[in-house]
Amino acid sequence: MTETTETRFEPTIPDVSLRIGTTRRAAAGGATYTSTNPADESLVAELPAGSAADVDDAVAAAREAFESGVWSGLPGAERGRILNRAADLIEADAENLGALESVEMGKLYVDSVNGDIPATAATFRHFAGWADKIVGQTSVLPSYGPQQRFGYTLRQPLGVVGAITPWNNPAVIAGWKLAPALAAGNAAVIKPAEDASLSTLRLAELLVEAGVPDGVVNVVTGLGEEAGAALAGHEGIDKISFTGSPRVGRTIQPRAGDKFRKMTLELGGKSPQLIFADADLEQSMPWIAMGNFYHQGQVCAAGTRVLVHESRVDEVIDGLVAAAKAAVIGDPRDPSSTMGTIVNRKQLDSIQRYIELGTSENADLVAGGRVLDGPGYFVEPTVFRGHNDLTIAREEIFGPVATVIPFTDTQEAVRIANDTKYGLNAMIHTTDLATAHAVIPQLRVGMVWVNGWGVPEPGLPWGGREASGYGRELGESGIHANTEEKTVHLAF
Ligand code: NAD
Repeated sequence: MTETTETRFEPTIPDVSLRIGTTRRAAAGGATYTSTNPADESLVAELPAGSAADVDDAVAAAREAFESGVWSGLPGAERGRILNRAADLIEADAENLGALESVEMGKLYVDSVNGDIPATAATFRHFAGWADKIVGQTSVLPSYGPQQRFGYTLRQPLGVVGAITPWNNPAVIAGWKLAPALAAGNAAVIKPAEDASLSTLRLAELLVEAGVPDGVVNVVTGLGEEAGAALAGHEGIDKISFTGSPRVGRTIQPRAGDKFRKMTLELGGKSPQLIFADADLEQSMPWIAMGNFYHQGQVCAAGTRVLVHESRVDEVIDGLVAAAKAAVIGDPRDPSSTMGTIVNRKQLDSIQRYIELGTSENADLVAGGRVLDGPGYFVEPTVFRGHNDLTIAREEIFGPVATVIPFTDTQEAVRIANDTKYGLNAMIHTTDLATAHAVIPQLRVGMVWVNGWGVPEPGLPWGGREASGYGRELGESGIHANTEEKTVHLAF
């Protein structure tokens, strides 16, 4: 990773119009909403609040672009070349994209520039490589008397993919949805989160600059209950790919519609980190702390249930407390800050309520717990010692709040790990791979990290089960999620 030396890079605000086909315009009713900087509560931009009518237009434009063949009809290698160029442009624009994310949702600028934006480019590069390798299977079949037979399968684009993204990793998750959809030849309509739309609007500009025909990617900014709900239930789309909270995911799931359209739901988590007696804490402690405090805990894959063998509890608590105390909380664009802001006032208040609940349910508060005076939405990294029945151990807080939970043996660790409605991911810290291999199949999750934490790889599937949703993004699974398989039986 390249380290940046820029101080408080000022981003260029992209054109904030709705991107519908080749037009750029205000919302149909002229409604707008404001995006504010969570570090100082200043205005960042006023954006169109797209309505159901705007979503209708965007879906129609995407359909027209798809049917015209301007993108779906290109040879896969050509789509791949354009997506690779998009990856180059994303990398070249990293400081700007990173700063856009930082001012809108409070992620550390260095983490955006050195982490999220290169990861977004890597996703486009990965799927650029798939664009000319989307192949089927062949099978020689028993003959019909004198007729020879064989069969094969085709993987074809779905048509129009609808994408709804959260605010916590806006560029990364837009990339997870757009890159495989485009590699497979689909057109798309994307509705970014109201708290972080600017990097998606900039991405759409860069895609056009790279050569994706204008109109293939449509962007409707707006409020979730209006623009998001209209897109999620739209009869004109062939798939909805949603990443966000289980609360909203639950309202989307029943809306597959008369077409029984495809759906991927990437929802929340309350993931366990299982730290066994033989864990190498020198190596694992930074991952364990990062799993709780990175991006102020606003990460779906956060490992905030820290399950520790009873013999190592004090060491793990000391490690977490040291990490919490070392945090330099401040403006996310200040290079000396190591923790940025919470995304908005509502989320800050919610985190504060959870911290109060932890204390009122008699968990032992061992570090942090304080909301800092404004302006801006800052909270201390917080560590509790407790048990798995506490509200703070059962509900996704989406803030920097760790709960350390002791266990006595492997069976108990697995039982506690699975005692949750979520099933996104789990982390195992051990120096004995036999322990890891024995535990991995028993965990009811979509992803496991051994001696690490939560960093996605574009070539490996991402997704969860149960209240963490279903379907997979990234890797070959991402291509499968954006194509329809057709079986052909041929006799001659
Ligand atoms: P959210 O559910 O509030 O919003 C997500 C998106 O849905 C936004 O674009 C929002 O405008 C839209 N939306 C809101 N109401 C809607 C409705 N009624 N119909 C359609 N769309 C609607 O989530 P958030 O606060 O933006 O993000 C945080 C959540 O996302 C957490 O639960 C986190 O765990 C989850 N998340 C999951 C993953 C994953 O890969 N599993 C990744 C990142 C975030």
